[in-house]
Amino acid sequence: MIIDGHTDVLYALFRQQREFHVESPHGHVDLPRLRKGGVIAAFFAIFPAWSDYDIARGVDAWFNLVENPNNSLVHIKKVEDIEKCKNEEKVGAILHFEGSGGIDEDLYKLRSYHRLGLRSMGLSWSNLNKFATGVATGEKERGLTYLGKKLVIEMERLGIIVDVSHLNERSFWDVVEVANKPFIASHSNSFSVSNHERNLKDDQILAIGEANGTIGINFCDLFLSTKLKNEDIGLDTIKNHIDKIVELVGINHVSLGSDYDGASVPKVVKDISYYPELITYLEENGYNKQELEKITHRNFLRIMKECW
Ligand SMILES: [Zn+2]
Repeated sequence: MIIDGHTDVLYALFRQQREFHVESPHGHVDLPRLRKGGVIAAFFAIFPAWSDYDIARGVDAWFNLVENPNNSLVHIKKVEDIEKCKNEEKVGAILHFEGSGGIDEDLYKLRSYHRLGLRSMGLSWSNLNKFATGVATGEKERGLTYLGKKLVIEMERLGIIVDVSHLNERSFWDVVEVANKPFIASHSNSFSVSNHERNLKDDQILAIGEANGTIGINFCDLFLSTKLKNEDIGLDTIKNHIDKIVELVGINHVSLGSDYDGASVPKVVKDISYYPELITYLEENGYNKQELEKITHRNFLRIMKECW
């Protein structure tokens, strides 16, 4: 039973003109492949989410997707909805904004989108906005703005999970200072295993552990390894990132956040139907059933219970 912390299927459907309920040779995520992968729920990112317009278009696409009965989706708004998915053999979809640029300074839109079912948001998508500073800006000094700190506090009050993936280090540490609830890095790996700027340094991983948050392992080939070619990346490379996080903060702070449909992934985890392969590999290489339950879903369920 998998909860995937980050997929870009909404964006991929928009670009690739394929139908969600039909198994496709293109992209990484659709209903048949989610079922083969044993995925009970996934975060569905609205990307881009830089402007009003992006978000309005994304939210429209989101409701078209989850309200279509052919898609067998449940819009997850509370933890109990995930139980409902299990019983009804449906897949849970969690609404996530990948970036906060489309939110207004007064946060009226944040509260409205929460009412529409927004349950998780990244503060920036690698770029700079009025709230936060992303990792691709090269900015060292600018972190969260005053408004960004207010945003984190209001997200926590409403029950929207704070996601630090794509932030620069200064913004990350500002979140650590402001946050009172667990926060997540929904799709990031270990920098000491693979020195890509999107990955987390050891002290950042320690801080996420300290906050009782979790880190979703990202299958993007570049984040998994800056040295190996795509075709040379094996399940062992993915396990190295999990092992590193477990070594630093233990089993309660590592999850899965594939980035399917948003990244180039290695062939060993070619699409979302390949999750059982990874789980079997981890089971054969030192992770027991209880530990795997935490990685695959229990850690995310804990965060949802605490944040929502
Ligand atoms: Zn991303």
